[in-house]
Amino acid sequence: MLKIHQSAYVSLRHHAEEAYPHECCGVLLGQFDDNGAEARSEARSEAGPKTVSRIARCGNTRQDSPHNRYHIDPRDLIRIQREGRERGEDIVGFYHSHPDHPAEWSPTDLAEAHWFGCSYVITSVEKGVAVLTNSFELTGTDEADKKFVDEKMIVV
Ligand SMILES: [Zn+2]
Repeated sequence: MLKIHQSAYVSLRHHAEEAYPHECCGVLLGQFDDNGAEARSEARSEAGPKTVSRIARCGNTRQDSPHNRYHIDPRDLIRIQREGRERGEDIVGFYHSHPDHPAEWSPTDLAEAHWFGCSYVITSVEKGVAVLTNSFELTGTDEADKKFVDEKMIVV
């Protein structure tokens, strides 16, 4: 389960609308409610609940097809991770938008997801307006058997 503070939820949907017709992307910062180290080092079939307290926007570095692909610059990710640690926050997931496409993961999304136990949040944007926001958790033990499972998301 993913609990997301209302302010973070509102700002990620706002980011999705601003970026339209391109995809937006960013990082979800907060806490693993059980044991964060365990959630990341040991792949588990079911990770514990997480809470998102803040989002960090990222630039979309994909130049080839920015409307249906996204990529977070590794330098951005390292900076966000460091700044998060200073505030006692972990990276608990990632978000991006699907302009004029459903809020469902694509094969490319799965191929590019590597953080087991983390949440991948997708917002559909239709004609510039954010519609559905869904969360999927990356489960499995390695690249060969990884998969996304639907994750309940509640705004707190
Ligand atoms: Zn996608």
